[in-house]
Amino acid sequence: MTAPSPVLPVHALPSYLQADHLGPWGIYLQQVDRVTPYLGNLARWVETLKRPKRALIVDVPIHLDNGTVAHFEGYRVQHNTSRGPGKGGVRFHQDVTLSEVMALSAWMSIKNAAVNVPYGGAKGGIRVDPKTLSRGELERMTRRYTSEIGIIIGPTKDIPAPDVNTNEQIMAWMMDTYSMNEGATSTGVVTGKPIDLGGSLGRREATGRGVYTVGAEAARRIGLEIKGARVAVQGFGNVGGVAGKLFAEAGARVVAVQDHTGAIYREAGLDVPALMAHVAETGGVAGFAPAEVLDKNKFWDVPCDILIPAALEGQITEANAGRITARLVIEGANGPTTPQADDILHDRGVLVLPDVIANAGGVTVSYFEWVQDFSSFFWTEDEINARLVKVMREAFAAVWQVAEDHKVSLRTATFIVACKRILHSRDLRGLYP
Ligand code: GLU
Repeated sequence: MTAPSPVLPVHALPSYLQADHLGPWGIYLQQVDRVTPYLGNLARWVETLKRPKRALIVDVPIHLDNGTVAHFEGYRVQHNTSRGPGKGGVRFHQDVTLSEVMALSAWMSIKNAAVNVPYGGAKGGIRVDPKTLSRGELERMTRRYTSEIGIIIGPTKDIPAPDVNTNEQIMAWMMDTYSMNEGATSTGVVTGKPIDLGGSLGRREATGRGVYTVGAEAARRIGLEIKGARVAVQGFGNVGGVAGKLFAEAGARVVAVQDHTGAIYREAGLDVPALMAHVAETGGVAGFAPAEVLDKNKFWDVPCDILIPAALEGQITEANAGRITARLVIEGANGPTTPQADDILHDRGVLVLPDVIANAGGVTVSYFEWVQDFSSFFWTEDEINARLVKVMREAFAAVWQVAEDHKVSLRTATFIVACKRILHSRDLRGLYP
């Protein structure tokens, strides 16, 4: 058999696909460029990673409660499907853009390959502040969006899940809408569903549990004792809240938490279960006692050993990276550290555990949920957590080894592992037609 042509002709990329294009997609392209020298023969396929396979922009018109019609812009991007169907969440946020969704879909490709679940990468979003919608409006918007992207999603094509501002109820509406259009109940079309609709035990906590699991592994490797360690968390939802709780249970002190409502501090450690209850009740950390109110910007100066950014992209930047006191940064959010900040932290000897491995626990249990839906046989929570921990530890160990072998950051190491897997599948499948 003859090997495929070693050089693929490259046509100039449109400006919004280029690496100097500011924003998450440009950052992602820089990350790919960094690992290309480590990909050996597979580098001939790297162009595949620099363009999303498929990107859909949809108009989402809905009746508002006041009788008028509003239009929202929605997206679903399938970055890569070499290793399996597209997989990744859907976010509802007023700042969502196509470029952001493209980057998030690409990071899903990397993440899914890094933990070796049989998926490609995808992501979706609607440019909307869901807090401005009534429950009825939210449901109508979710259903219309699902129907519009229905031409490219499906249990063997692309499987959405929760992300920023989306939850189990939204997944239930998505599942129902898709099923109605198909004429058959199709639970495997989304993950992160309510337990009674084919959801998985442990899914809600999975991302935070994964953050804790690999965070503890990383801490051990750098001789950082969890017991007594001071932890600062940005974002106290599903990811930051659960991770904070697990670190506190392991004997760490969660000393500072910041979210969209404010920042709080307590040197002796915050009462994490009480704080979680407060956030569930009031929508944020503001007003929690006992704790000191912290100026939002001062959050990055807080003396701590472990920092967990678990909110949105672009939080750790050139402006604050030099002030961070932690020895270990665990990225619960997707893309929280800019490349410049990454370099500053690296030079200062701060270990960054990147998103593409640190927050992969969510999609790992999404994979378990999808497998359970196909077999209509459901596992216990202990089984799920044990399998999750095993997947995360193995993925971490492989990445750590590559980082040691090549003397590169954990982010570059994760990209090397993942890009090799994706491009190896690409190579085996060959080019159609
Ligand atoms: N939204 C989550 C992520 O960014 C989970 C995606 C999924 O479960 O498909 O990893």
